[in-house]
Amino acid sequence: MKDLTNKDVIQGEKNGIKYLQFRKLLEYNNKIQHYYILKNDGINLKTRGKPENIIIAKNGYRKIFNSLGMDYNNLVKPIFTHSNNVKVIRNKENLNEPDFENKSLNEIDGLITAKRNIVLAATNADCVIIMLYDKAKNIIGNVHSGWRGTLSGIIKQEIIKMEEEFGSNPSDIICCICPSIRKCHFEVDEDVMEMFKDKYSYTNMLEKIIYKGDIKNNKQKYYIDTVLINKILMKELNIRDENIVDSNICSMCNPDILHSSRLETQEKYGVNVSLIYIK
Ligand SMILES: [Zn+2]
Repeated sequence: MKDLTNKDVIQGEKNGIKYLQFRKLLEYNNKIQHYYILKNDGINLKTRGKPENIIIAKNGYRKIFNSLGMDYNNLVKPIFTHSNNVKVIRNKENLNEPDFENKSLNEIDGLITAKRNIVLAATNADCVIIMLYDKAKNIIGNVHSGWRGTLSGIIKQEIIKMEEEFGSNPSDIICCICPSIRKCHFEVDEDVMEMFKDKYSYTNMLEKIIYKGDIKNNKQKYYIDTVLINKILMKELNIRDENIVDSNICSMCNPDILHSSRLETQEKYGVNVSLIYIK
């Protein structure tokens, strides 16, 4: 079995559920708990597509929560739409069941909470996910930043909201970048490349953000480093270098243990999920 453990993440398994944890966040495991759930046999968390997918996904979440000793009713799972909308969760809406794709959670791609035991979820299958922890104010966040979210800079919205709503100081915020598609595999056509070029030329780092790829079917292909863009945006908001932690893992390079929407077919692809809560 492949093990993704490296200098910043540790792979673990409990009751048959495989996950990654960030070493930096484990330093605060008296305050918070977090997991990035890997591909696990018999679990499919994707809710899109057929109506019965919701039931299958809920069963998957229940199994994960039970296996890891968490209360399934504490789950808060938005409907991610590649927006740059961030929501602060003050309280659970449902008392004896999860807030699972509730209406109020539609078109939400970033979550923040200061409340104990609320488990914030973000799913991906190639998209960037960033888990955040303000170690001074004890506030957590979870952000889904696909290429559209990266283009609209959702990570900045998340950090700004932590500052505005809770008085967070960016120098206290740890940002952990989960596995996602990386520049080695994130191939796009000219139209998408142009969008990134327009948006991020001001950084003067385009030569590190955009790489020219091969010509396929008479079309010039490009590779985009969306992880680097997220790091640049974090630094613009004064997140410290030592608090930007990158798993450095590509979903398409590790298909046996990570879901990838680009590798798995559109109908069949599964998703990984990041879960974080305050103890
Ligand atoms: Zn790759």
